[in-house]
This record gives sequence, C-alpha cells and structure tokens, in this order.
Amino acid sequence: EVEVAIKVVVVGNGAVGKSSMIQRYCKGIFTRDYKKTIGVDFLERQIEVDGEDVRLMLWDTAGQEEFDAITKAYYRGAQACVLAFSTVDRESFEAIELWKRKVEDEVGDIAMVLVQNKIDLIDDAVVHTRETEELAKKLRLRFYPTSVKENLNVEEVFRYLAEKYIDQ
Ligand code: GDP
Ligand code: MG
Repeated sequence: EVEVAIKVVVVGNGAVGKSSMIQRYCKGIFTRDYKKTIGVDFLERQIEVDGEDVRLMLWDTAGQEEFDAITKAYYRGAQACVLAFSTVDRESFEAIELWKRKVEDEVGDIAMVLVQNKIDLIDDAVVHTRETEELAKKLRLRFYPTSVKENLNVEEVFRYLAEKYIDQ
C-alpha cells in the first residue's frame, strides 16, 4: 500500500533532456529520438524511502516549453520540481531563474533541485562549473550534474526530491 505519492514537474528549456530523463527513470531506457506525443500526462515509479513506499509521478510537458504555453493543469498540485538545463545550451542555463519563479508563482515553495544534464558532453560545455555552483548557492538549491545518456545521477535526483519532500 502506497501512502505517499508525489507529483513531480520537470521544467526547463526545450531539448535539455526532460522527456529523456523521465523515460530513463521510469522505463529504464534512453532513445535518441524520443517521441513527444507519448499520450499520457505522466509516468510513474515507486521507490522506498526510509522503509516507506513512495510513488513518484513525473509529469512531462508536451514540448511547449515557452513559459506561458504550459497549462495550469501541468503545475496544479505539484509537490516537487526538477529545474533542468543542458551543459551545451547557454540559454537553458540562463533561463533557470525564470523557470523557478514560474513554478513558484503557480504552486509556491516546493521541493526543488537544480540539474545540469548532458554532462557527458562536458568537453563542449558552455557553462562553467563555478557558474553552476554560484547559481545553486544563490537559489539555495542542491545541484546534480547528470547524463541521461550514460545513466549518471538520474536516480539520485529523484531520490533526493522524495527525501526532501518527506523531510520537510
Ligand atoms: P526535452 O525537450 O527537454 O524533453 O529534451 P529531450 O528529452 O527530447 O532530449 C533532447 C535531445 O537530447 C534528444 O536527442 C536526447 O536524446 C538528447 N539527450 C537527452 N539527455 C541527454 C544526455 O544526457 N546526453 C546527451 N548527449 N544527449 C541527451
Ligand atoms: Mg520533451
């Protein structure tokens, strides 16, 4: 019997790897051309935290990443949030504060985490590690570098959010 269910929204600019991350975490797969129309609002996965079963419901956007294009239903009732940017997309990094504000405007102060995806492409990075650390500090967020492709740190991101939600 699952007692805790958490709605997690995954936000950030287009092509940073949000859909891939949800797929990877919930289905265990990585595909280069992820189909945008999966036909469901969210995918889910159950984990155990402190001996308790927790169901994480990961909500994907339908590829409409402009701030105002995402419907209120997407954010409604969200209890945790992944703020994602890409190692090789400077604009996606610079948009993080806007995404954070957008989420807070819709659902208030919820558990959040900062994610730098595509860390496998670090040789082509357009964001310095120090900048990311400074942003994380400024926004008071835990920061995880991830590679959905190499399956690096993806589990850790969602476990952290679940623990943060439960501990709050
Ligand atoms: P979204 O628009 O944020 O949902 O991004 P997608 O999940 O559609 O991913 C955009 C592209 O980035 C796809 O071609 C993915 O295969 C690719 N991608 C996602 N994660 C990674 C990663 O960790 N490393 C690399 N090299 N490519 C990735
Ligand atoms: Mg997507």
